[in-house]
Parts: sequence; structure tokens; C-alpha cells
Amino acid sequence: APKALVPKRCIILAVANQKGGVGKTTSAVNLAFLLANAGLKVLLIDSDPQASATAHLGIDQAEAHAAGNTLYPVLRQEKPITDVIVPVCDGLFDLVPSTIALANVDIELASDPVNGGPLAMRDRLEPLRGIYNAVVIDCGPTLSMLTVNALNAADQLLVPVQTETLAGLGVSLLLETANKLRRRSNPGLQILGLLPTMYTSRNAAEKLTLEELHELFGKVIRIFDPIPRTTKFTQSARAQLPLLKAAPNAPGAEVYHEITRTLITHMIAEDGRVAS
Ligand code: ADP
Ligand code: MG
Repeated sequence: APKALVPKRCIILAVANQKGGVGKTTSAVNLAFLLANAGLKVLLIDSDPQASATAHLGIDQAEAHAAGNTLYPVLRQEKPITDVIVPVCDGLFDLVPSTIALANVDIELASDPVNGGPLAMRDRLEPLRGIYNAVVIDCGPTLSMLTVNALNAADQLLVPVQTETLAGLGVSLLLETANKLRRRSNPGLQILGLLPTMYTSRNAAEKLTLEELHELFGKVIRIFDPIPRTTKFTQSARAQLPLLKAAPNAPGAEVYHEITRTLITHMIAEDGRVAS
């Protein structure tokens, strides 16, 4: 097969929604896999103190913490990010593991305006731009200092959203935050899109919510096709594998491929804008 067109410029994608259990980690892990499988050099950063992406990729959180191979010492400026990277998925891509200790970092970042603050992560991630084509940040389920840091470090934001009642409210809040950050600290932040997840088309209420999301946001933001609800995602998380590695044609695969293609198109466009 012909080698994929590999972009020169690195794109940082934050996968965020302050609601838990909406498919952030599942999407981040599977997108990291697809981007790597397309020939890109990919790093996934687990920025959730609950360390779900770390577990999903078979890395023991306690071991990573003991070895100091997590995002925590990086944000505290004790280690460069290049020192905490571990290969995952048979070496296909890299991971910066999380640790529960990240739950403390909000207060630490807030109390140190010079080395911490809302731009700490952006600074610490800078060395990655010369190494990776894509960096995917899996955010935790809060609009915390940590999440704001991820949004300030990102070029693109993907918002997984479960098709349940009132989903739109949470999305509005997140998009408002993204707009504020764009004005104040990260003018380059783009919304890649909303990704409806765990969708059952037979369920009338979910169908209605999906229509509402289109009415509320569809004119200004791309809304990807919904990821169907299937227990296969949970099973593969337990088996510590990205589902799309184990089952390339699993439900939702086409949508994750479409997001991957969209990201790569953005990267190639950015390449055209930097001097080559
Ligand atoms: P978040 O990171 O937003 O908390 P997760 O990706 O961890 O969400 O997903 C929450 C739970 O839902 C997990 O058990 C996951 O395996 C499961 N899940 C994710 N995507 C789907 C889906 N499309 N259908 C059914 N279950 C899913
Ligand atoms: Mg998660």
C-alpha cells in the first residue's frame, strides 16, 4: 500500500467534555490508534486523574506513578515531557500516562502563576511539536485548571457528547469556555466538531436529542455522524486494546476514520501555511 501523506506540522487535539462517561477516552484511544495506523507519529496524553486511557492501553498506573512516568512531574516542571513517554499498542504510538496524583495539580498550578497557571501545559508540550505529527489529549470530566490547560495547549477540540437529554447545555458551557480562551489565551483553537456517542437510533428520545444538537450547534460546528451504542467498546477497554485495532470494522469505525481524515486534512492545510 502507498505510504500515507505524512504532515510536517504537529497538531494537538484535545478531547474534552466536562461530563463523565460520554466517550472521551474511548474516542481519544481509538483516534490515536487510527492516526498512528495511518503512518503518523502519535502521542496520547492521559490528562485525567482517573487514568482511564492509561488503563485502556494496559499501563499500570501505580507502576507509572512510582517510576515518575506520568504527566504529573511534567506539569510540576520536574521532568521534561520527553522523559515520561511510554510506547503502547505494540509500539504503534506513545503514551504519557496519568496518575491519581494529577488530582492535586489543579491547586498547585493555580498557586504558582509563574511556572503554573493556565498555560503550563502549553509550555511543557512545546518540545513535542518537533517530534510528533499528532498529540491527542484525553481530558478529565471537569472544567478544571487541568482541562483549561489542555484547551490552551490544543489546536483542535473534539467534543464527544452522549445523546441524552440536556446534553446541549453542557456543550454550550464548554464552547463558551473555548470561545473565552480563544479571545484571551489561545487564538488558534479550532473546534473540530461534536461527536455524538452511544447512540441508539431506535430510541426516540436519543433521536430527538441528536436533532436538537443539530439545531443548536449544526450551523456553526461540524457534527459528526453518531457512534452507535455497542458493548464492544467496553469489552475492548477491558481487554486493554483499542477496539478498532482488534476489530477494524466495528460499529462506529467509519466515523472515527472520518474524524481521522478530517484531522489529517487540517494538518496538510497547516503544512501549506508554514514555510517548507
Ligand atoms: P469518558 O472518557 O467520557 O468518561 P469513556 O470513553 O470512558 O467516557 O466511556 C464511558 C463508558 O462507556 C466506558 O465503559 C466505555 O467503554 C463505554 N463506551 C464508550 N463508547 C461507547 C459506545 N459507543 N457504546 C457503548 N458504550 C461505550
Ligand atoms: Mg475518560
